[in-house]
Amino acid sequence: MRGARKERQKGQRRLPGFQAQITAGFCLFALLSLGLLWMLQTVLLNPFYQAIKTGEARGIAESIVKNIDSQELDTLAYDTCVRTGVSIFITDPIGRSLVVCRQSFKGSLVADMGRLERMAIFEKVNLMGGSYTEAFTSRTGAGLILIGRVAPTGGGDHWLVLVESEITPVDATVDTLRVQLLCVTLVMLLLGTALAALLARRMAGPLTAMSQSAKRLGQGDYSIRFAPQGAREVSDLAHTLNYAAGELSKVDQLRRELLANVSHDLRTPLTMIKGYAEVMRDLPGENTPENVQVIIEEAERLTSLVNDLLDLSRLEAGAVGLTLAPFDLTACIQEILGRYGKLADYRFPFQFEGPAWVEADKLKISQVLYNLVNNAIHYAGPDKTISLRQTVEGGNVRVSVTDTGEGIPPDKLKDIWDRYYKVDKEHRRAQVGTGLGLSIVKNILELHGGAYGVESTLGQGSTFWFQLPAVGPGGQNLGALVSSADSVGC
Ligand code: ADP
Repeated sequence: MRGARKERQKGQRRLPGFQAQITAGFCLFALLSLGLLWMLQTVLLNPFYQAIKTGEARGIAESIVKNIDSQELDTLAYDTCVRTGVSIFITDPIGRSLVVCRQSFKGSLVADMGRLERMAIFEKVNLMGGSYTEAFTSRTGAGLILIGRVAPTGGGDHWLVLVESEITPVDATVDTLRVQLLCVTLVMLLLGTALAALLARRMAGPLTAMSQSAKRLGQGDYSIRFAPQGAREVSDLAHTLNYAAGELSKVDQLRRELLANVSHDLRTPLTMIKGYAEVMRDLPGENTPENVQVIIEEAERLTSLVNDLLDLSRLEAGAVGLTLAPFDLTACIQEILGRYGKLADYRFPFQFEGPAWVEADKLKISQVLYNLVNNAIHYAGPDKTISLRQTVEGGNVRVSVTDTGEGIPPDKLKDIWDRYYKVDKEHRRAQVGTGLGLSIVKNILELHGGAYGVESTLGQGSTFWFQLPAVGPGGQNLGALVSSADSVGC
């Protein structure tokens, strides 16, 4: 087991940290971007440039062809030629020059052509369907692009438009770019590493602090607080961990209280049983039915405490299945109150309009009623009156148990449903239960999907209530089940 943990820790240590991961990410990104730039700027610069120049020359040829009948053709050709740096030649089918605007490229092909050569080109362009593009190297070694277009004129003739563009070698530029890119790559890698270190420190700092706090939390220091700092997600995590620490501390506190309460509750009846038994053994004449009764009652208290603990742990573990069946809740309440009626001094007025039926687990609902009435008795006021009321509203039967006792402080109303919770922390009243009763009530009602609650005024008393869906009057629509279910006592 310990070996496995060591193994796991070893595995964890081998994982790269934030700094390494971010640095690697940054460097990879920088290298990829620069690689792409490198490709575009150096390897593909020449073909790109050539393609752009060819497209430009084609566009110029198109616009000349479109304006072939224009009076302004000369001016258009001249302006374009000056503006874009290309040479433009327009000839007729027999090679006579109609418009010439030539740039002073070294080794221009068209400028040196004779009439026959221009005729031959016309033929060639015609044969190629009226459109021709060619890249070549001039005698001087310069790159040239020649675009030819046959342009039908309005007069029925066909003229040849030739656009010649020079491609300046970009090798020198490429060399310069290479050096520049090398410098940029180095600078980017250095900057990336520094930035990654900075970012990693900012991100990892709060997490490292949190991890240390979590270790202390794991060691049982529930007072630890996680500082919400750094990025939003990290700060959210700190809030969540603070909440978890709060809950753990609450559970721990409750556990301590339970231990104290349970040991107190076990010890009191055990002391009584032992004391009475010793007196009965040692003192002649003390072996009376009254003393035996005390022993029996104390043993019953022990049994009920152990039962409560078992019930709650089973309910919370979800190990309790419900046996749902319709039954007369009113009759059940009356039956329970009948038993309490034997308690001298206490009064249990029950107010209801008529019998109400519910489909529920009869034994569990009786347990709810017993717990609520027991609490009301324990905390009852001097009038010793516990009033029960049953109403049917909106398809629900609502039962309330009211006492006129000390009441519950408003800030404790939410907590009393928690297991082991007792408003009276000092646990002075040994006759009062373990702090499990309401938690059992809550679990049972939640299993039934029923609503429940409490209203209380300090010094005036409390009303605990719950409600369950009502079934048809008398349950006659579910008659077959009623008779068997009704036989289970409350
Ligand atoms: P307990 O077994 O201690 O009564 P419960 O879970 O039944 O435990 O109740 C939890 C706490 O709620 C009690 O310790 C008590 O402080 C408070 N409480 C319950 N019912 C009443 C009541 N009718 N009047 C005043 N306080 C009550």
